[in-house]
Amino acid sequence: MGAVFRRMTGDERHPGISAVYEEDNGDTDPVVALMKRYVPGNTDVFAIAVCTTILHQLLTLVPPYLLGVTLDAFFTGQRTTLSVALVPQAWIPPGTRGQFGFIAGLFVATALATALTQAVQVVTFRWFQQSILHDLRTDAYDATQGLDMAFFETEATGNVMSALNNDVNQLRAFLLGGLRQSIESTTLLVGLLAFMIGLHWQLTLFSMSFLPVMLGLVYVYQQAIEPRYDDRRSAVGELNTHVQNAIGGIETIKTFSTERRESAQHRTHSREFWEADWRAAKLSGLFYSTRRLLTEVMSLAIVVVGGWWTLFGPPLMFSAPLSAGLFVTFLFYGRRLVQESSQIGDLVDTYTDARASAKRVFGLLHYPSRISESDEAEQLERVDGRVEYRDVSFTYPGADSPTLEHVTFEAEPGEFVGLVGPTGAGKSTVLKLLLRLYDTDEGTITIDGTDVSMTTMESLREAIGYVSQDPFLFGGTVRENIAYSDPNADERRVVEAAKRANAHEFIRDLPDGYDTAVGERGVKLSGGQRQRIAIARAVFKDPPILILDEATSHVDNQTELLIQESLSDLIASRTTFVIAHQLSTVREADRLLVLRDGRIVESGDHGELLERDGLYASLWEVHTGATAELPEQFRARGQ
Ligand code: ADP
Repeated sequence: MGAVFRRMTGDERHPGISAVYEEDNGDTDPVVALMKRYVPGNTDVFAIAVCTTILHQLLTLVPPYLLGVTLDAFFTGQRTTLSVALVPQAWIPPGTRGQFGFIAGLFVATALATALTQAVQVVTFRWFQQSILHDLRTDAYDATQGLDMAFFETEATGNVMSALNNDVNQLRAFLLGGLRQSIESTTLLVGLLAFMIGLHWQLTLFSMSFLPVMLGLVYVYQQAIEPRYDDRRSAVGELNTHVQNAIGGIETIKTFSTERRESAQHRTHSREFWEADWRAAKLSGLFYSTRRLLTEVMSLAIVVVGGWWTLFGPPLMFSAPLSAGLFVTFLFYGRRLVQESSQIGDLVDTYTDARASAKRVFGLLHYPSRISESDEAEQLERVDGRVEYRDVSFTYPGADSPTLEHVTFEAEPGEFVGLVGPTGAGKSTVLKLLLRLYDTDEGTITIDGTDVSMTTMESLREAIGYVSQDPFLFGGTVRENIAYSDPNADERRVVEAAKRANAHEFIRDLPDGYDTAVGERGVKLSGGQRQRIAIARAVFKDPPILILDEATSHVDNQTELLIQESLSDLIASRTTFVIAHQLSTVREADRLLVLRDGRIVESGDHGELLERDGLYASLWEVHTGATAELPEQFRARGQ
């Protein structure tokens, strides 16, 4: 069962995760939707789990009954003949000894059956729960992997992680606890009432008269506690957000020396959480003690009325007599009835939480993607590397003004294209469109004549190697990071790629060489070292098109030169796009595209552009130090 993607239109903004569920499903209860989607794959286990749960609960009602029957048959003055419901009279032995042994046998059989059904119930429920969660988790993960970049930019990472972790766990608690509990409670309530009515409907009527009081109490409590829980949830959310920000921004906090202020804010948030929790706790305390009191009062009432009934005959308008044994049975049943009805509130609680979680997880599963693969998508094969942009315009979702306007250019196979221009001109965006991290609003981008939106995502991205300014290294070894595109590659290829990226020397000097762990939990590498590993990763992939987006911005000039030298034959043999801050990095480019405010304003090689004496020429002058004056356009932009 994979995720179902709905295509978003260009100017549609990303909705929140929960909102998606409501759009798609209207009033359908999310927990019901969840069960509908996942139970069919696990019907057998679910059926066994439900049946054994019902059986188990009914079996727990047998001992009080047997006790009552035993008391009446052997221990009270009335000494009625022993008869057990559902057991044929012929099976019951004649003498007192035999009968006593028979009853003892029934007690043992019930105990064994109770234990057995419990064991089956526990394991089948656990299997059912894990199986559903596994499907749900993998579906939700796959769905997020298929979403477009704009989703991750608009939806806070925290929300996505929370839906993947907390909400899935919340559903776990519901599937194992709430769902089972609700089957148990329903069985018990129905079973108890049936047993009680069967045994003595008049006393049952009296015992039931308390139920509306209990249900009323539960209802009032639910209404009152809900807003307090909401407050508590938002207080804890704010507290967590503050901690997250403070840890993420620790460097800024330290350099601005604002620890005290942050600490005071944290104290305030923590205090607010405490207060919110206290308001909820007070009400809970009141509710639980009232509920307890009510349970005791009801039990006591059954004791008093039942006792009276047994001793002096039916009170008021009642007519059926009550034996001592039945009185004892009812003491157990009555108490159980009251207890179960008071559990309904807890069930409503877990159900409400599960609904909210199911809504978010479903929202993630059905999140509309802006970028999706066309049904007629073709495989890009044996790419030569001819890239053509034709009148491409693009605006980031939610942005007010266009980011790129009418961008048109061509790159021949093997050509080295440099993109230059002020920060924010749109250079990175141009290349992100080639990778199809976003779709163009207007115009087309083709590779070897095939529109990128008509190619399979996998073959497109296989054809392109991309190194960004701030590359991400996965937790794992240096070798694994370099050989990311082919984990089974031999050592020689890895070392070769590292040498080209001028990374071999420093990798060799790491504590465990190529086996050194990097990433968040590994050794700390400098920005330049990470960039060189990322370049090695792209070189290793050996793609027909290579994009270096300020890939050497963190390395010193000398290392940059070395990398360039070792990359030169690599660049010569494939279409390469290089965005560089240092104009000298792209000086040798076959063609330079100069961008400003989302438009290509000049293009040509270094010599031609200098001759033109336009924006590039002024940028070059600043670069070489021939002038200290920034070009007019830069000053106008305040850069
Ligand atoms: P350059 O690479 O030339 O510095 P970019 O392509 O990164 O420029 O950015 C072009 C413009 O688009 C900038 O104004 C930037 O603020 C905006 N921009 C970049 N990335 C995003 C994004 N993910 N969402 C919205 N706006 C963006």
